[in-house]
Amino acid sequence: MIGQRESVSGAHFAFTDRWGGVSAAPYEELNLGGAVGDDPGAVRTNRELAAKSLGVDPARVVWMNQVHGADAVVVDEPWGDRPVPEVDAIVTAGRGLALAVLTADCVPVLLADPVAGVVAAAHAGRPGLVAGVVPAAVRAMTGLGAEPSRIVARTGPAVCGRCYEVPEAMRAEVAAAEPAAHAETRWGTPAVDVGAGVRAQLERLGVRDREQSPVCTLESADHFSYRRDRTTGRLAGYVWLD
Ligand SMILES: [Zn+2]
Repeated sequence: MIGQRESVSGAHFAFTDRWGGVSAAPYEELNLGGAVGDDPGAVRTNRELAAKSLGVDPARVVWMNQVHGADAVVVDEPWGDRPVPEVDAIVTAGRGLALAVLTADCVPVLLADPVAGVVAAAHAGRPGLVAGVVPAAVRAMTGLGAEPSRIVARTGPAVCGRCYEVPEAMRAEVAAAEPAAHAETRWGTPAVDVGAGVRAQLERLGVRDREQSPVCTLESADHFSYRRDRTTGRLAGYVWLD
């Protein structure tokens, strides 16, 4: 259910694994993604189960309509009947509002400045890394009074650089935007390390407290991996303030 969980000065970070939900194969068990072909009723139940295990009100969880872009939006209440915006980062200064990001290989980035009382969740895949979704999230946070030097950054399970094979030209394109993402697979072919790129961006932004999950989704049977399984579920990362 909840694979990793941490609290820092009233800010809470959590990442799910694939177990403990009600979805049938190939989404078993805790698929939290609503746009992957799974039964919507199962997804709703899974979202309730995950929120309850975190001690969060399911109605106070804010999801995004993720599009591999770099737009960030500030929220202060759940979307309700409003359309869920197409963004890849959400930011709030609201207490008890849990921001959620969905992934299956992409890097889920959770950020919190507990002093300012500002948190953010971002979806950083290869396009988002290049487009700058992480800098956009940090900029939106500083707009609400956060200081990069106080931001605590946690990145969740994602495909690792030794598994993420890409064509040579694609590696060159990504490395031109973010040199730290240049990688090689364990079998010696061109690869991209999105997590390393995210860490380099955070460091450049002045975010000092950075920790990354050691889990590679493609290598872990306990996590969803799009590159491994194609039709599969989505993991979630959650960040919220007391
Ligand atoms: Zn790997």
